[in-house]
This record gives sequence, C-alpha cells and structure tokens, in this order.
Amino acid sequence: MSTMNTVGRPTAPTANDHDYKYPTLTGGRGLLQAEHLIFESNGWGKTGVDLPEPKTDGSDLGDLVRRDPIGLPGLSEPETMRHYVRLSQKNHAIDLAIYPLGSCTMKHNPRLNEKMARLPGFSDIHPLQPTSTVQGALELMDTLAHWLKTLTGMPAVALSPKAGAHGELCGLMAIRAAHEASGQHEQRRKVLVPTSAHGTNPATAAFVGYTVVEVSQTEDGRVDVADLASKLGDDVAAIMVTNPNTCGLFERDILEISRLTHAAGAYFYCDGANFNAIVGRVRPGDLGVDAMHINLHKTFSTPHGGGGPGSGPVVLSAALAPFAPAPWVVHDADGYRLIEREEDEAAQAFGRMCAFQGQMGMYTRALSYMMSHGSCSTTNG
Ligand SMILES: *Cc1c(COP(=O)(O)O)cnc(C)c1O
Repeated sequence: MSTMNTVGRPTAPTANDHDYKYPTLTGGRGLLQAEHLIFESNGWGKTGVDLPEPKTDGSDLGDLVRRDPIGLPGLSEPETMRHYVRLSQKNHAIDLAIYPLGSCTMKHNPRLNEKMARLPGFSDIHPLQPTSTVQGALELMDTLAHWLKTLTGMPAVALSPKAGAHGELCGLMAIRAAHEASGQHEQRRKVLVPTSAHGTNPATAAFVGYTVVEVSQTEDGRVDVADLASKLGDDVAAIMVTNPNTCGLFERDILEISRLTHAAGAYFYCDGANFNAIVGRVRPGDLGVDAMHINLHKTFSTPHGGGGPGSGPVVLSAALAPFAPAPWVVHDADGYRLIEREEDEAAQAFGRMCAFQGQMGMYTRALSYMMSHGSCSTTNG
C-alpha cells in the first residue's frame, strides 16, 4: 500500500514496514504524528537499561519460573524517549489553539495560573498535614470562598465538590436535607427541569431519588413560565434552571421564576455552568437562587476535559447554608482551621462530598485568575 509523506508525495512501502509505516522523505519521523504502539515497534532486541544479573536463580519459584520472553518492546533509550515525546505532542495545548469544548464558557487558561498552582506550598502538601503547617493553603481557600460568595451575593459556599455534576449533587442533597428538616421530604418528590437542561440536571435529580418532570420551553428558547407555574405545587422539591441557558440566552423571567418557586415552597437550583457570561454583572443571590454550582474550570479558567481536573463549588442561600457539607475553613485569632465534624459546628451538615478538602490546584488557579482579572486586589482580612 502506498502512503503520502509530509510533502504530499506518494511513497512506496519500505522493506521495514513494521517500523516506518508512514515514511518521510528522509526516513526521519520527527514531524509525523502517526505513532505506532510501543509494542509494534518491537524487533531489534535492543534495551534501554542494563539490569544487573539477578542474585538468585529463582529456584524457590519451582514450576512458576517463566521460560519465554515476556514481550517487552525492544527500544533504545533515545527511541523510548522519542516515542513518549511524540505521544505528548498529540496533546492539545493552549500554545496551539483555543480549547473548543462545547458548553464550557472559559476557553482561556492563562499560564500564570499554572505557575501559581505549581508553587510547592500549594502543590506539595498533603490533605492530612496538621493545619498549622498549611495555613497559607487554608487562607487561599478562605479567600476564594469569600470572593465566590461576593460575586454571587450568596452567604455560604461548599468548596469541596469536584465538578459541576458533583456540585449539582451537593446542591440537591442540601435541598433534600432542608426538606427533611422541615418534615416535607416525603411529600416533595419532584424536581422540575426545562427541556433544554444539560443532561447532568435530570441525572442528578434522579440520582438523589427525585422524579424528574420536564418544563417546556418557549419558541425563542427560554423557560415557558406558564408551563412551569402549572407544574409547581407542594409536591415539588426544587426547580433546576441554567442561566444563561444552554441556548446562550439570559432567562428574562428569572425573578418571576424564583418568586413562583418560593411561593410553592420549593427551592431554586441554578446551574451556574455559564456563570462566566454574567460574573461581575449579575449576582445570582439577587435573583432568588438558593443553590448554584460554579464550574471553576469553566468560569475561572483551568484546562479541563482531558486537560485537567474540575472543581464545582456550590453557593448556598441562607435557607440552605446550615446543611452545607463539611469541611469548610474558618479563622480566628489562632489562625485558620477546618470545620470537619458534627461536634465542631457542623451538626446540620448533610455529610461530606469527598474524602478531603477538594481540588487545591483548582482553587489556586481560580483565585489567581480572579486576582489578575477582577477587582479583588485586597483580601478579605
Ligand atoms: C459543564 C456543564 C455541567 C456539568 O459540569 P461538569 O463540571 O462537566 O460536571 C452542567 N451543566 C451545564 C450547563 C454545563 O455546561
């Protein structure tokens, strides 16, 4: 089979086809992206390392001693290095292009954030270290929490959820805990979700045990308020609305939507994945939102979707704040500490979202982004 080389000239297959399936003019492969599996590069019986002769003869293994070669690829050290460097060059990077991920409103991931996240005081710490040794990291979490609450106009935030979907789970669990506390959980079994919602919204509601009821949308792509009103009642636990919505439109009737929701005794969960479009202009707290996740990896930078982890802090209204999951950071004259257990002020917390404190690297990137682009030149101290 003939193939095309990088200058577009057809070339004949080489004798060594297993090695150079896509030859260049010179036979060098530095500019080619096509890469064999490392096991397909076998055949020379080379090795990149010299291991010392084993001191034992393996006789204690009896019949279990392997007699055949184990099929490791035969590559020299530079060949091995080049194989992995070529693979690494298949990665998409901010130096190559924008990151075109669907609904994600943040395409720019400044290098500065990466540099900050790699500072050893943030990157080389362990979640079980004594808090006296990680005061700076706790201060960073506290400052980030302060700005998330300030930007959303909400009194509380749970930092630990690890993605938007995890944040939705956190928000709905807080809502369920609030209905349980007021004795209404058994009666409020439905969650209303518009047709255009991101798939994670109905999935989360179902996962928490609710029945999902769809709300239709208007011809211009917004929530059909009349349909919503007709479905609200004392059997509804919450509505989940994305704003700006998935069609990229700001829900103009949002105040009416929250008024109707609260009048029915339900909570307003806002999917904040698109917060980047309104941050600094509109505060969800002023719109009557009770819980909203913020995809730090969408609104406050950080490569994601194969490029890095997510983080989905959830801001909560005064009604839901008591049920926020542990842990959270507090500070007093003795410095910063984590509230982790019922006996330390977390009596009503519905539980935890993850083993430790969440994604430290994401917190660092998000705060770096806020401090370099926003108005937060002073801390909350
Ligand atoms: C991205 C997104 C989510 C889910 O967030 P993840 O961080 O991917 O879990 C939820 N809703 C909307 C509208 C989104 O765009």
